[in-house]
Amino acid sequence: MSFFIMKTAFIFGTRPEIIKLSPIIKLFESKGIKFFIIHSGQHKDYNMNRIFINQLKIPKPKYYLLHKKNTSFIKKTVKSIKRILILEKPTFVIVQGDTDTVLAGAVACNILYQKENNKKKKYYNLVHVEAGLRSFDKKMPEEINRIITDNISQILLAPTKIAKKNIEEEKISLGKVLDVGNTIVDVVKKFRKKLDNNILNKFNLQKNKFIILTLHRRETVDQKKRLKLIINTIKNNINLKNFKIVFPIHPRTESKLEKKIFSKNFIILKPLDYFSFLSLLINCKLIITDSGGVQEEACILMKPCITTRLNTERPETIIIGANILTGYNSKKINSSINFFLKKKRYWKNPFGKEGVSKRIMNSLKKFYQSL
Ligand code: UDP
Repeated sequence: MSFFIMKTAFIFGTRPEIIKLSPIIKLFESKGIKFFIIHSGQHKDYNMNRIFINQLKIPKPKYYLLHKKNTSFIKKTVKSIKRILILEKPTFVIVQGDTDTVLAGAVACNILYQKENNKKKKYYNLVHVEAGLRSFDKKMPEEINRIITDNISQILLAPTKIAKKNIEEEKISLGKVLDVGNTIVDVVKKFRKKLDNNILNKFNLQKNKFIILTLHRRETVDQKKRLKLIINTIKNNINLKNFKIVFPIHPRTESKLEKKIFSKNFIILKPLDYFSFLSLLINCKLIITDSGGVQEEACILMKPCITTRLNTERPETIIIGANILTGYNSKKINSSINFFLKKKRYWKNPFGKEGVSKRIMNSLKKFYQSL
């Protein structure tokens, strides 16, 4: 069976999924491997969504799901994706990460896999990119999405050795588990040389004289006290007085913040396009975040990171000294800022060597040939 006649469905719906699936999609496109894209409609704003599709030159989604207000996103998305998959009959259905889109895509695919495909396995093989991440906090919806998706995937693509070990130790999946690295390595390596050199002028910044702040997780922003504590701590840290604080605000966070909380050295922005954001990461001194993806990029770019959460599903970054977990503790946030400002640190990227997308493509080829 030739790999070129099989069909693959990519499902995405949020900023990080678009960014991290982009190198696999581009590789399939350049090799002439058949695929189509389903956009779940989870992120709708232009600057959380289409801006990335345009900038990363991803082909337009063939299916773009629309949602009425007051309907359950997951329920509706499962139904719609199921309908599309029956129509298209893909061999592989690829989801990435831990969002509600991933859960909906995985469930829709699994229903069909169980129903129609038990014998031949030619259709609806679920592929989970970024499998095996665990925060071990089941109060996080993302953790539940990861566990369910890993449980029902036929191919689990772990980004690190720890992620692979997590799956093996849980003994939950009958699927094939492979440690291939994280596709963000391919993205960062590809674009870091082609970036906007004018970015510092644009925002009136100097290299290494600013820090980047991003906050968007439900557990951070849904509790105003936590959000305020983080911002006030940064605002009042004496060692940051001569630094600008660049804060591109996620739509979920925007409505929770009052403008008067910020001091003059904060630069408040709308969510940035990928090339601008990556350019800023490369030039900043330090990153403070609750984002999963930003913890990885900081680590790959050798920028110290402070994660204002109680746990992280990226423990590799902590172990190598690239990242410190502070929770919502002002003292810890301050001591971590002071620690990272003092001394430059070095570590080895734990997310694999460049060529992750190629390794993924080759694993799928091998799997396909064994069907
Ligand atoms: N990002 C971006 N512009 C921004 C903030 C983040 O392009 O203004 C990118 C960032 O480089 C990373 C991804 O968005 O690749 C992270 O997405 P997010 O923090 O929304 O989700 P998470 O990774 O926590 O799931």
